[in-house]
Amino acid sequence: MRDPSTSREPALGLTREDLRLHVSRLGAQAFRGDQVFRWMHASGVLDPSAMNNLPRELRESLADGLDFAAPRVVDRVSSGDGTEKISLELADGYRIESVLILSSEGDEQAAVTLCVSTQVGCRVRCRFCRSGLEGFRRNLEASEIVGQVAAARLDGARINRVVFMGIGEPLDNEEMLHRSIRILSDGEGVALAPRRLVVSTVGRPEAMIRLGEAFGGRVGLAVSLHAADPGLRARIVGAGRAAGPAEVLEAARAYPLPPRERVTVEVVLVRGLNDSALAAADLAAALKGLRCRVNLIPLNPFEGLDMEPPGRQTVQAFQGLLDSAGFPTFVRRRRGARILASCGQLAFGGSRTKEFRDD
Ligand code: SAH
Repeated sequence: MRDPSTSREPALGLTREDLRLHVSRLGAQAFRGDQVFRWMHASGVLDPSAMNNLPRELRESLADGLDFAAPRVVDRVSSGDGTEKISLELADGYRIESVLILSSEGDEQAAVTLCVSTQVGCRVRCRFCRSGLEGFRRNLEASEIVGQVAAARLDGARINRVVFMGIGEPLDNEEMLHRSIRILSDGEGVALAPRRLVVSTVGRPEAMIRLGEAFGGRVGLAVSLHAADPGLRARIVGAGRAAGPAEVLEAARAYPLPPRERVTVEVVLVRGLNDSALAAADLAAALKGLRCRVNLIPLNPFEGLDMEPPGRQTVQAFQGLLDSAGFPTFVRRRRGARILASCGQLAFGGSRTKEFRDD
């Protein structure tokens, strides 16, 4: 969100190209824009007065014209099992959540994944997801998406993977998603290789195609399919809220993956709903010809949800069926559940506490 008191543009949402343009308009040489970008995204310096290789005059006009703030961290809870939930407050008072996930605990070089939100709430409202329970408020700005990464890094995390799997449907906020990917993958900044950025979608075929085109298939793609049977899938994601399984898989097949990369197919397993041998066989048949891996996510419960995860043996049987059909299949380890930081457990909060002159 733009800072309503000054309407300064949020600096974290600007690409390096935008910053080059911005400084040129201020009368400086374009390479100064690269320097500002490096300060913010490579060095984590969000205070223009500390950007000490810039002329003082430029530092001042940058501070006048742009808002360098990252979303404010209002809470951090650690689960004790290598996940940490970060609550952030946005300029208009809404609160969103990001989750830090350490891939190997106790190792200093541990890979750190940040799971970021892309919307305040969600329009899709999958039956088992807490994020859509309260409906949809608004899209996040690029500065707020990139700002989640900046905020986590300010607190010392060395992030080497960002997954767009937090609150919201990333492909319903396409423009800001693309912009965030451009910023995070820019070699002069956070410099995450595009394959270290993973977009998870409930299935928006046209937007999947555009994502593939915009980044040449190099950005990781995960599709939340849940079931290959159209009726079953509709019972899970809600009829009419997302494309049918065939269309989603068609768009996934058309995704221009580099050699050796795979699309991830996500299946949240719900006891007695989509966990049968028949559902697994349908899935294996539907996935034919798609270079993919399957990620099984036993349902993460939360209060008020009238669904349960399947038992362990059911999950193993499901996995076995897909594995033997030739699809590498993993069961996502459940982490962060105690602090409601697992898949589908994130929620937004707060309200528009501040007055806006422009609404
Ligand atoms: N909207 C996007 C990204 C956010 S959800 C999407 O649908 O992919 C990230 C993953 O968590 C999705 O696969 C989603 O289906 C899954 N999920 C939602 N609720 C869940 C729950 N209660 N338990 C386990 N996974 C859940």
